[in-house]
Amino acid sequence: MATPVANSRTGIAGDVTVPVSEPVLGVEEEGAVIDALRRGELSGTFGRAVREFEQVFADYVGVRHAVACSSGSAALLLAVAAAGIESGSHVLVSASTHVSTALAAFHNGLVTVPVDSEPETGNLDLDLLESLITPATRAIMPVHLWGHPVDMDRLGAIAARHGLVVIEDCAESHGATVRGRMTGSFGDMGCFSFYSNKVLTCGEGGMVTTDDDRLAARLRHLADPGLASPRFVHREPGFNFRLGALQAAIGGVQVQKAESIVERKREIAVAYSERLHGTPGLRLPLAHEWARHVYWAYAVIVDEGAAVTRDELMAGLRARGVETRTFFCPMSKQPVLLDERPARLGGPSLVDVPTPVADDMWVRGMYLPSSVGLNERTIDYVTDRVREILC
Ligand SMILES: *Cc1c(COP(=O)(O)O)cnc(C)c1O
Repeated sequence: MATPVANSRTGIAGDVTVPVSEPVLGVEEEGAVIDALRRGELSGTFGRAVREFEQVFADYVGVRHAVACSSGSAALLLAVAAAGIESGSHVLVSASTHVSTALAAFHNGLVTVPVDSEPETGNLDLDLLESLITPATRAIMPVHLWGHPVDMDRLGAIAARHGLVVIEDCAESHGATVRGRMTGSFGDMGCFSFYSNKVLTCGEGGMVTTDDDRLAARLRHLADPGLASPRFVHREPGFNFRLGALQAAIGGVQVQKAESIVERKREIAVAYSERLHGTPGLRLPLAHEWARHVYWAYAVIVDEGAAVTRDELMAGLRARGVETRTFFCPMSKQPVLLDERPARLGGPSLVDVPTPVADDMWVRGMYLPSSVGLNERTIDYVTDRVREILC
């Protein structure tokens, strides 16, 4: 980065650039990478770095199995493939999410049915769920958006009533809990990302969590063509989504730091909310009392009555050195889902359901800088600039 970065290491000086997200790694991660290198581990297949990362993460989430893979997108693809859902079936997906959630359905020949958001958390609106379930529905993919968990107790009861597979997208929710229980431990499978802007990171990486021995074996098989038996004889159209050992070495350390990282994320959110409380036209994130919100990102909405639009606020902050980002484009508006159809499929890859709340969030929502490296001075700087523009 060319300009000085305002974070806990450098403080604010001269030209300020506060990145929307910045990974923070320490000597522990550095040491783990060097150890793995010295053991001669590069590919994850041999050696112990991947196995240890999987074990420590399974223990953290509270599940029997965690299967490492190369990204969150790969985790989602693997999970949907492992579920073995018949082509052409429908999958309910949070309307506001990373496109990879829906693409996991798409690449497996399934049709995405977007579920609109609840205004409070941005998560899929559970009141809408049953009205969208048809005889073609086979699965639900809830996304724990921004780090606020979906009420999985309620969602699980609905899924059980209709015999649906549940695949949680936990890419933003490492450490988030519902009534004390970790996201990623409720569904048939949970899919995590360890991309550099996530709560826990190893640069590039993913993990699928499950309590089901059969699914775990299937996930491993699909992720690594080297597991064919006899060797080189394949009965399944798998992938290669293996994770490298050096990535896994970083990931293992990050999991050990998870609780302190989550604690810092939550402190940053409290600091933002205290300073921004009462800012006219700005809706701040909230957390339900049954939830531990991990604030992957501090997500705000610029209301219609605000002094400026969301885009003007973003531009104003950018001019003052503060980087922000919009929310996701809703699945109901994704050209790739509207225009494309999987070759195996006769019909469209999306059911055209209106998603007015998610559409509105796409126009009005944005994240403020949310790295764990933010210090109080930087938070003061950011919130002063926000108030300067909006008040
Ligand atoms: C980041 C993200 C993904 C994709 O993870 P990658 O590791 O970047 O492939 C999927 N879903 C959600 C909700 C995400 O935020």
